Amino acid sequence: MIRVVFLGPPGAGKGTQAERIARKYNVPHISTGDILREAVKEGTELGKIAKSYMDKGELVPDDIIIGIIKERLSQPDVKERGFILDGFPRTLAQAEALDKMLEDLSMPLDRVIYLNVDDEEIVKRLLARGRADDTEEVIRNRLRVYREQTAPLIDYYSEKCILAEVYGVGEIDEITKKIEEFLGLEG
Ligand code: ADP
Repeated sequence: MIRVVFLGPPGAGKGTQAERIARKYNVPHISTGDILREAVKEGTELGKIAKSYMDKGELVPDDIIIGIIKERLSQPDVKERGFILDGFPRTLAQAEALDKMLEDLSMPLDRVIYLNVDDEEIVKRLLARGRADDTEEVIRNRLRVYREQTAPLIDYYSEKCILAEVYGVGEIDEITKKIEEFLGLEG
């Protein structure tokens, strides 16, 4: 059973590391970015709304995202195996809503892994990735939004004494090992 949040700037490698841990320990990987991109691809009502924000590097409104996560966390696989949240929470309101949900479900959070990567490295990585929202202007906006709205969560979780910081530059395997150590997994 693993219940963890991956926190960090865009391009820190949250998705890559979350996917590896999820696969190895058979824990549901819940990525709000993936869920939203899927909705955009399918052209659903949610997708249409989300796209207008994602294209600008803005955050999709809290109530929409919180609704999606609430629904997902109530599924039986999460109760049985736990979860790896990647890309959520991204605002203080989302973090508070998550606390409430987990309390109602009697599923306390074990750890928050903060993947830290320098700004220069982030821009380099995102430009190389070349996703639809990875143009220089949108990247710059996402970094600004990250600093203003998401970075305060580092203190929020640090005060709860569940934050572990992992430097996200180096060998992917080594970074995974460090995360496993913090999660108390054998590796
Ligand atoms: P990255 O971490 O590489 O910036 P994500 O795939 O996590 O990208 O998210 C892509 C976009 O999806 C974000 O820029 C934002 O518009 C939207 N999004 C994802 N998660 C959230 C969230 N928790 N709250 C609001 N918007 C979100």
